Amino acid sequence: MRKLILKAGREKSLKRRHPWVFSGAIDRLEGNPEAGETIEVRSGDGEWLALAAYSPHSQIRARVWSWSETEIDASFFTRRVEDAASARAALGIDRASDGMRLVHAEADGLPGVIADRYGETVVVQLLSTGAERWRDAIADALCGLPGVYRVWERSDADARELEGLKPRSGLLRGKPLSGAPVIEEHGLKFRVEADAGHKTGFYLDQRDNRLLLRSLAADKDVLDCFSYTGGFTLNALRGGARSVMTIDSSGLALDMARANTRLNGLPDANWLEADVFQTLRKLRDQGRSFDVIVLDPPKLAPTAAHAERASRAYKDINLFALKMLRPGGHLMTYSCSGGISPDLFQKIVAGAALDARVDVRVEMWLHASADHPVALNFPESEYLKGLLCRVAA
Ligand code: SAH
Repeated sequence: MRKLILKAGREKSLKRRHPWVFSGAIDRLEGNPEAGETIEVRSGDGEWLALAAYSPHSQIRARVWSWSETEIDASFFTRRVEDAASARAALGIDRASDGMRLVHAEADGLPGVIADRYGETVVVQLLSTGAERWRDAIADALCGLPGVYRVWERSDADARELEGLKPRSGLLRGKPLSGAPVIEEHGLKFRVEADAGHKTGFYLDQRDNRLLLRSLAADKDVLDCFSYTGGFTLNALRGGARSVMTIDSSGLALDMARANTRLNGLPDANWLEADVFQTLRKLRDQGRSFDVIVLDPPKLAPTAAHAERASRAYKDINLFALKMLRPGGHLMTYSCSGGISPDLFQKIVAGAALDARVDVRVEMWLHASADHPVALNFPESEYLKGLLCRVAA
């Protein structure tokens, strides 16, 4: 087997089982591995460390499949996929929803592989050369899960470009999609744009946080910022909100959100196709106020290099939201940026509260739902963090 030899002393992160080998840590390659090929990773003095997939074009030059000497073959992927699926089953996630993340990349021992299940359809993203090389084995493993009849590929995320891979999407296994799949999450139906929507079509990670909003919403005036297809809005309406104002810059997302409210026989929200950053300022200038505000912006800092600029943007929206909250009101605020740590996010919100001159207490730390596990050796898998804040009455 071809080998990747690290520079002297650069094996530390691998010994802590962080699954990435950066190009700068590499001394040399022995043999001439192809993109995605399985290679041995060894320390500068020859110690065997891991089996990994080789990515010739990426800064992340190799991603670990296994920390022990095992065969990386089709049955390896079947085992990993089945293990990921049974972990979800053990958590009873299917009782909450028939939409769930089945494979969460590194956190499920499958770097570069994201798989989300929407009823009988699995939507998969293959985002690294290693995942690309094993496309058939991964598709077979997913299609072999009980109740799965279709595997659809949505490998069109930017991450593929860094790997030197072209976008790819379309049917991998089973019969073509006939219309968008409809899932039922905590008793609410959502149509999922699996072939064109964001990510694999739906933000499954916010499932339980949406339910939390439902429990807070009775008789409240709610503002849902960055709504996408209405996950939070529908829960506020189901929870008996007095009014819901829903803002997103995408008219298409709002159309889907509106269709989703109808699908559930819910009353209409006040839909606003607009930029949240500008609109919050405007609403504040108009003297508007709310009981509950949700801020779920897109990834403003993909990496730590974007953190400073993103911090200002996060602070801005949190500041205006806090200024518009009535006494005793709740702010649910999130960051899904890998480049913003939970600690930094709390500091940003604290800074916003200080500038807004309001006393705020954090009532809950919020996270992605349990089908988005965090690998302890890979803190990057903890991307979504949120705070439930209450402004003093
Ligand atoms: N809360 C949603 C997910 C939000 S995804 C859910 O529960 O499903 C982020 C959303 O922000 C996307 O729908 C995108 O269209 C929207 N968006 C991005 N930038 C924006 C901006 N400046 N103003 C308003 N919406 C924006």
